[in-house]
Amino acid sequence: MAVAKNQSIEIGGVNIKPGEHRVVDLPVSKLYTHTDLSIPVQVICGKSAGPTLFLSAAIHGDELNGVEILRRLMNSTQIKKIRGTLIVVPIVNVFGIIQHSRYLPDRRDLNRCFPGSIKGSLGGRLAHIFLNEIVKKCDYGIDLHTGAIHRSNLPQIRANLDDPEIFELAKAFSVPVILNSNLRDGSLREAAGNHNVKILLYEAGEALRFDELSIRAGVRGIISVMRKLSMLPSLKKTRKLIDPILARSSFWERAPTSGILRPLVSLGSKVDKNEVLAYVTDPSDMFDQTEYEVKAQYGGVVIGGSNIPLVNEGDALFHIARFEDIQEAAASVEAFQNTADNQPNPVFDDQEFV
Ligand SMILES: [Zn+2]
Repeated sequence: MAVAKNQSIEIGGVNIKPGEHRVVDLPVSKLYTHTDLSIPVQVICGKSAGPTLFLSAAIHGDELNGVEILRRLMNSTQIKKIRGTLIVVPIVNVFGIIQHSRYLPDRRDLNRCFPGSIKGSLGGRLAHIFLNEIVKKCDYGIDLHTGAIHRSNLPQIRANLDDPEIFELAKAFSVPVILNSNLRDGSLREAAGNHNVKILLYEAGEALRFDELSIRAGVRGIISVMRKLSMLPSLKKTRKLIDPILARSSFWERAPTSGILRPLVSLGSKVDKNEVLAYVTDPSDMFDQTEYEVKAQYGGVVIGGSNIPLVNEGDALFHIARFEDIQEAAASVEAFQNTADNQPNPVFDDQEFV
């Protein structure tokens, strides 16, 4: 059966034809020094027709796992033989990454500036360029994030699961936890949804750090979604790694007082209602050794948490997801954590990627 030919795509005024791969720099602004700043975009236009997918990282400039995930993906030879079109943007917040910062120079959060406008704030202009030059030209997108500074996330997918196709793609990504979120918050995800672009958000690891488990799970997840979209050939033998479990809801446990944090649970831990998750101690009188308990108000699985032992009253300490069946969720998380360490990097394992 003859496969339909792909169409060319225009990004930043550059026409990329079927069978070509190109780097396009999208001009954004200048630094104080008048050095030009642009968003580097890598485009692979497959020979055969298929969906158009964008992959973006570092919309928050200090969230770096995604940059490495995309490097590994682009390092593979198979990625140049896709069906459809792939647009890869390893660094969206080109300002933030220079300063190791989540934010833009005016302290705005780029992921709250969408859809933006041509005459808006710097963030609004950047959002406008990204939305119009990349997002609107796509059918699907995967946006890669990490926890904030001093915070780690267990690999998880967040998406609008009311859309059955997005739900299927979220499951295909194959990380243990899926969270339903349909926010109206000026995010890329909201703006994309308004243009019928189906988006998954991958959250894993910590800001300013590489986390190998999160990176491998991210590469594997993207490949798996591209297979689901028929952009890559499906595996002859499908290997079921884990069962992703949909969380019912999630909540944060906060510090009851300021002091030094001593956690008793870690990412992926199953916790019961009223279980003590950590102690906050008072360093000013170590004869006394007064400890304040941080207790779980509900049972669930720890999917995010603070890594710094210094806490102020009210600080968010543990992000806990609730499930219909906690045992099943905990088993899935444990299977993921146990197998992920032993798994080869999917990109360097030809058998798996072909
Ligand atoms: Zn982020």
